Amino acid sequence: MDQTRLARWRVPFDGAFALADTSTEPMPDVPGGKVPGKRKLRKARAAQTERLRDLQQRLYAERRHSVLLVFQAMDAAGKDGTIRAVLSGVNPAGCVVHPFGPPSKEDLSHDFLWRTTRRLPAKGHIGVFNRSYYEEVLVVRVQPEYLEAQRLPRGVPLDQLWQQRFDSIRAHERHLAENGTTVIKFFLNVSRDEQCRRLLRRIDDPERNWKFNAGDLKVRARWDEYMAAYQAALQETSRPWAPWYCIPADNKDFMRLQVANIVVQTIEALNSQFPELPADDHARLHEFRAELTQGKPS
Ligand code: ATP
Ligand code: MG
Repeated sequence: MDQTRLARWRVPFDGAFALADTSTEPMPDVPGGKVPGKRKLRKARAAQTERLRDLQQRLYAERRHSVLLVFQAMDAAGKDGTIRAVLSGVNPAGCVVHPFGPPSKEDLSHDFLWRTTRRLPAKGHIGVFNRSYYEEVLVVRVQPEYLEAQRLPRGVPLDQLWQQRFDSIRAHERHLAENGTTVIKFFLNVSRDEQCRRLLRRIDDPERNWKFNAGDLKVRARWDEYMAAYQAALQETSRPWAPWYCIPADNKDFMRLQVANIVVQTIEALNSQFPELPADDHARLHEFRAELTQGKPS
């Protein structure tokens, strides 16, 4: 796959990222081109899902690398649906999805990386974080009153605290990368208008009522503050060892295909191979075959 096609969603590593310059709407592969229709997008995604199934088998068999996919977004941007669409078809034994809601009492009595660290994927596995430690520089930054329950050391000014957290996150992800966990992070970039349409659908469609959460409106009301927090987080923590991808999210099929492309390409680059049978066993395969077929017609 063409590297440049994926590089366009990647948040630059030099701190030059501006959320205001990104698109929430689908964009054609080449300037002046056309965005494919729903059917084409879905067909392309199905092909990538198939590819992912094969790649995951190798990853699982080799058990040398793990992959961590982090999803962050405003409510109704489509995290759940994207995770489902992209990972449908992979062997569930090798894939674990963890959602991170408000921290528990036990979570709060540890450092902010503790609860997610316990859920990191084992070698050979794909781990998915639906929300993550990034909430600690997003929701907590917009609503610093959450810090009270965290009982942090006194005397650290807030500005410094967020910088410390960025430092911790960068170091944490670098450590993971150096030890065999490939980290890729997706920000599903939905527009305020599209979010409004989706929240209204949750109100108007009885089958979607269960997804409606009055708290989402409070978060929505502080949209600009969230965008500022996202901008800082992506800028400060997109690094070669753990890149952020900022994916236009107003068209779900388009978004899911972009995520599938990036996941496939990243895992492909690991070049996982099925392990070889030890040479001794390999040399004796004919003996084992004879043992299994002894007395049976061949
Ligand atoms: P989602 O909104 O992710 O699709 P959900 O509404 O079912 O799923 P919840 O159990 O409500 O999930 O958890 C999400 C909420 O938890 C979000 O509002 C998020 O901001 C909040 N949250 C996550 N991490 C933290 C944290 N560290 N501190 C405070 N709130 C947090
Ligand atoms: Mg929610």
